[in-house]
Amino acid sequence: MLVWEEEVRTPSTIVPSAAATAALRDVPPAVATPTPVAATRRVNVADKRIINGQTDVNQLVPFKYKWAWEKYLSSCANHWMPNEVNMSRDIATWKDPNGLSEDERRIIKRNLGFFVTADSLAANNIVLGTYRHITAPECRQFLLRQAFEEAIHTHAYQYIVESLGLDESEIFNAYHEVESIRQKDEFLIPFIDAIMDPEFRTGTPEADQTLLKSLIVFACLMEGLFFYVGFTQILALGRQNKMTGAAEQYQYILRDESMHCNFGIDLINQIKLENPHLWTAAFKAEIRALFERAVELEYRYAEDTMPRGVLGLNASMFKGYLRYIANRRATQVGLEALYPNEENPFPWMSEMIDLKKERNFFETRVIDYQTGGALSWD
Ligand code: FE
Repeated sequence: MLVWEEEVRTPSTIVPSAAATAALRDVPPAVATPTPVAATRRVNVADKRIINGQTDVNQLVPFKYKWAWEKYLSSCANHWMPNEVNMSRDIATWKDPNGLSEDERRIIKRNLGFFVTADSLAANNIVLGTYRHITAPECRQFLLRQAFEEAIHTHAYQYIVESLGLDESEIFNAYHEVESIRQKDEFLIPFIDAIMDPEFRTGTPEADQTLLKSLIVFACLMEGLFFYVGFTQILALGRQNKMTGAAEQYQYILRDESMHCNFGIDLINQIKLENPHLWTAAFKAEIRALFERAVELEYRYAEDTMPRGVLGLNASMFKGYLRYIANRRATQVGLEALYPNEENPFPWMSEMIDLKKERNFFETRVIDYQTGGALSWD
């Protein structure tokens, strides 16, 4: 007890050294390490910053960014695991020569081909890129949860591939071998590489814009746009009572991803608020051009996955949908809508995202997840 009190009275023994703090953030001491006086001071909430912060990244509280903590709690409350979902009906449908049309099979294989590596890209981007540049511990806490969810998603796609007995090398290599998928990934990878570079440091306007651009590309264009043709297609299958196990997993993934997207947008807007000098006209023009390119690439993916109409969907319906989503993402980060007056051709998709604790759409299990209550220590 005495030892503990002594430690509490002597902050320098519980606050990491300046060098250790810098190492944890992976930033050079000259840029972002607290001065010796600041290092021994208790964390003042007003000093916390999303990027280039000078406060101790090990102290979660006092909270400044409550929205991040609340999203972390909501994400934990949505916990699920792929192998809880029964795949036996999907397996029977897949094996039945008349169970699905060739176009429906193409959609499933293309979907898995994109997603099975996309969530690995997302996970690596967070763990090896974004995380070390974010200096708000409550945001780091969300990113840790998000990284685990990306692992769950990769697990889900792998579980579907394995359950259906698909050719694993075909599916896992699709991002090299299928042009519409490769082009989406080639668009994303430079934004991951830029912030994963061990030499990359925030702290100058140019570097901070590089990070901000990467965050926008990931939240608004990858998780917020590139996932939506695929999600809509598999959920449309589920709505026709086909591949309901896969569709149920996609529904949970969609719910997780919309949380990732919303967290990313809050993060972006908070960085803008704290660093208004980054939001220049030239920067905004660059971001708008990226939005336009992403809409184009996702539309090409829609055409490739749906050479004909299928499941009541066709590629041209997605032109409107992607423009509608791009407008929404643009306005969420404070840009003007790129394609005014687009309407949502798939209003049922919003219902899928907004599901909370009611029974899920396919009524196979209650979404609310509570392992704690099920544990028994007898
Ligand atoms: Fe995600």
